Amino acid sequence: MQKILIANRGEIALRIVRACRELGIKTLAVYSEADVESLHVQLADEAICIGPAAGAQSYLRADRIISAAEIADVDAIHPGYGFLSENEDFADQCERCNIKFIGPKSSSIRLMGDKATAKDTVKKAGVPIVPGSDGPVETEAEALKTAKRIGYPVIIKAVAGGGGRGMRIAHNDVSFAKEFHVARGEAEKAFGDGRVYIERYIQNPRHIEFQILADSHGKVIHLGERDCSVQRRHQKLIEEAPSPFLTPDLRKKMGKAAVKAAEAAHYENAGTIEFLVDDAGNFYFIEMNTRIQVEHPVTEEVTGIDLVKQQILIASGEKLPWDQSDISIRRHAIECRINAEDPARNFAPSPGTIDLYYAPGGHGVRVDSHVYGGYTIPPYYDSMIAKLITFGETRRTAIERMHRALGEYIIRGIKTTIPLHRAIFTDPVFCQGKATTGYVQEFLARTPTDLF
Ligand code: ADP
Repeated sequence: MQKILIANRGEIALRIVRACRELGIKTLAVYSEADVESLHVQLADEAICIGPAAGAQSYLRADRIISAAEIADVDAIHPGYGFLSENEDFADQCERCNIKFIGPKSSSIRLMGDKATAKDTVKKAGVPIVPGSDGPVETEAEALKTAKRIGYPVIIKAVAGGGGRGMRIAHNDVSFAKEFHVARGEAEKAFGDGRVYIERYIQNPRHIEFQILADSHGKVIHLGERDCSVQRRHQKLIEEAPSPFLTPDLRKKMGKAAVKAAEAAHYENAGTIEFLVDDAGNFYFIEMNTRIQVEHPVTEEVTGIDLVKQQILIASGEKLPWDQSDISIRRHAIECRINAEDPARNFAPSPGTIDLYYAPGGHGVRVDSHVYGGYTIPPYYDSMIAKLITFGETRRTAIERMHRALGEYIIRGIKTTIPLHRAIFTDPVFCQGKATTGYVQEFLARTPTDLF
């Protein structure tokens, strides 16, 4: 491979530029009018503007991105995460134009992108799923019958959902009838697809996901898990590896199930199998993400494997150089997502200009970010501006290092989630590894906002 188009922005675009540079591959950045000053545009070998600020008119315009790819004569497109990364039509168009899509085949995206079909597929492969409806439910009567059969509480989820949006919880028939219609309306508005399905709502679960690598020669391995239980409104805030909850035995079982799920999708490239795990250690598949994830660095830091480079090598047709038995988890890593939001004002977005910027460093610290002093965060995109990752021999070292690094981080001019992270990293519930998906809500309820 000689040249790759990066169909994304922000830190992930920069992450891909870095991997390409180390592999000796040229990069083409595409950017919106709002991202002229962006670091990925400045650091890529070439750059083409593809439209106005709004994502729908730039980073989501498959036609413009493919035209840019053709004009600049690239071999492949890396979609990053979000935007077109899980768009089967886009992957399909790349395939038809003989441009390699760095990700799975469009058929795998289609299969796993529809959450109901995905559950059905992995269930047939023997992977446990959350009890729920067989596919989407259409009418209120049918939905109500299904909810009663599953037993309350239930969660109503959009077939086309993503990013924690389009989910509603109901505890009885009356609230169910209301939430069913709200969920359908929201799904229609957010995803242009109003279909929903129903699952049992697992109480206080842990969100534990497995990183998969699969080459084009049929080999599938996993690189262990990430615990992503620290979430706010179903959106991840902190991720770590290994999970403080898993025993070696459960890790082995879940890893095997994750590989089976990926094999059932005839998967190729990097992907993630997400599970919910209850207190008793029962685990249930919830979905597969058919792309690189935001939280991939924690896996890189515990295994020593560069996932973005592996994505490119797999897309080039290379065989995975490891068997499952070669993979070992060598240390502990934790990631904090730093968002331009004001945690004291209900996480209101806080775009604007960064007057002063100083990123932490030192032993065991990694910062993946596209921002710098003087940079203006545009209001049009995701609010994540940096990922702070720390690692060490033990979980305790990683936590102490994170607290130290958060204390060094200076971002002036805007509000960020750094003070919230600092508070969490001294909280006994989190520090003892006891956080489940309800943790952040519970933490916020008992913590005065003037602490952050
Ligand atoms: P998305 O694709 O929007 O991220 P997921 O299916 O991955 O949606 O779920 C996101 C989060 O929502 C999970 O990590 C978990 O916190 C919560 N969740 C989803 N399904 C259930 C369920 N059946 N029971 C309890 N919590 C759930």
